[in-house]
Amino acid sequence: MALLERRSSMDAHKVLCTHYIQASAYPVMSELGLADALDGIGAIRNSADYWTKWGWIRPEAETGPGVLPHGYSVRRQSLDPLLRRTAAGTEGVDLRLGHTVNELLVEDGRTTGVAGTSADGSFVLRAPLVVGADGKDSTVARLAGAPSETTENHRFSYFAYFRGLRHPEGRTSARVYYLDPDNAYVMPNEDGVTVIAAVLSKARLDDFREDIEGAYLDFVRSLPEGPEIDRAERISKVIGTVNYPLITRQPSGPGFALIGDAALTSDPLSAVGCAWAMQSASWLVEATAPALTGDDPLDGALADYAKRHATETGAHQHLIADYALARPFNEIEAFMFEGAARDARLAEHFHTFGSRLITVEDYMAPEIVARTEKVTGWSLSEESLRVLSGGAPGAGTHATGPEGARQESTEAAR
Ligand SMILES: Cc1cc2nc3c(=O)[nH]c(=O)nc-3n(C[C@H](O)[C@H](O)[C@H](O)COP(=O)(O)OP(=O)(O)OC[C@H]3O[C@@H](n4cnc5c(N)ncnc54)[C@H](O)[C@@H]3O)c2cc1C
Repeated sequence: MALLERRSSMDAHKVLCTHYIQASAYPVMSELGLADALDGIGAIRNSADYWTKWGWIRPEAETGPGVLPHGYSVRRQSLDPLLRRTAAGTEGVDLRLGHTVNELLVEDGRTTGVAGTSADGSFVLRAPLVVGADGKDSTVARLAGAPSETTENHRFSYFAYFRGLRHPEGRTSARVYYLDPDNAYVMPNEDGVTVIAAVLSKARLDDFREDIEGAYLDFVRSLPEGPEIDRAERISKVIGTVNYPLITRQPSGPGFALIGDAALTSDPLSAVGCAWAMQSASWLVEATAPALTGDDPLDGALADYAKRHATETGAHQHLIADYALARPFNEIEAFMFEGAARDARLAEHFHTFGSRLITVEDYMAPEIVARTEKVTGWSLSEESLRVLSGGAPGAGTHATGPEGARQESTEAAR
């Protein structure tokens, strides 16, 4: 298998990422031996506490520290070279750095290979399956004409790295702030380095732009029980992005498949991109291995992969896209957040959902709603209950839908 990467250095890494890998990807990381390797380089076995106006949601309160399922927090400068070396050391993988794909070979409407350029000139490769793992602006998706749907992200984000930041009671849990509608997160990583992100409603963008660094630092200083950044060393510039739409693409077609951001670019705030990149690769392998190594039909396997992708991510992504509108909490969100802040079991349930380990349906299961009513002392309106019982599109869990922000588009094949 040829693995083509346009970057020419083994140590290249993605800069725009805060690299909290959700626990949902742990089985994939474990199977590939990555979990051991990440432990070996000091990656943080992650969990999170969540600030809300109802108090902190502390998921470990019931089970104790280190017991919940975890993923890893590890900077991309450590993760990306590790992934590349793991791939290069895997039997049957031919990693070719400095190879940029810029054309698809197509015969009778079917993708049959790629063409591109490298330092040695142009190259052409034929393959039964072309996998686009080429990120949010996927060349493979564009050239294959994969149908896509884009929704706006009404938040922008800036972040920076700090060394020597003290964590409350020495805890290494991330701290996530739901300031409604603004957000922030403080995430410890390997080597004692913490990344702090400000993820704000675009209503504040003009003010922010006047002095990005000053506005970022002032915002972080204003966080309730916030990180003491003035007693730590900032070791990076303030980095960010102001426009980051969410993109869902049809993840397969004749002779090609898309994984990771190429298939689904989610809101960075939800920190699901790295985990879903690993998981979607694994779903694709499970679906297509029998066809690629035997006589099963490949097109049926690719259709199965597309179905699995939609089942695993669709309802989650629907909620994430709605929340990316930077509107105030809807009634259901307020209900679930308040319950989780007031009850240890609901706190764990909330965290398990955010770690993408359970479905949206399980998150809002009737017994959870009943417990939340008891804990908060209030009940959802008839309208919200109707939504929960399936009256809304997708997950059936929205008080407000994202339809207004939806733009259908089909990427043109070149
Ligand atoms: C501000 C910000 C913060 C984020 N924070 C988090 C977080 O905390 N947790 C999380 O899980 N996710 C986060 N994400 C999302 C995460 O970065 C992505 O979801 C993840 O990197 C997707 O991985 P990928 O392998 O699909 O794509 P990428 O990481 O983008 O990798 C694509 C690869 O394809 C190569 N490539 C591209 N085009 C070609 C071509 N034509 N030919 C050959 N090679 C090519 C690129 O060089 C690159 O190596 C964040 C994103 C942003 C913007």
